[in-house]
Amino acid sequence: MPNPKRRHSKSRRDKRRTHYKATTPSLSKCDNCGEMKLNHRACPNCGYYAKRSMFVPEA
Ligand SMILES: [Zn+2]
Repeated sequence: MPNPKRRHSKSRRDKRRTHYKATTPSLSKCDNCGEMKLNHRACPNCGYYAKRSMFVPEA
């Protein structure tokens, strides 16, 4: 089985990892109530998705 001859240094490992970063969640305004909500999710404020009610939020 081919294997790496030497272990990569911490510096080399960390340099590779500079490319992976946390991304900010994409938010958009709810069509129904105008609150900010996650894309492709029902609005947690009013329970609407694609202009239809998916659930009725608790008071
Ligand atoms: Zn809403």
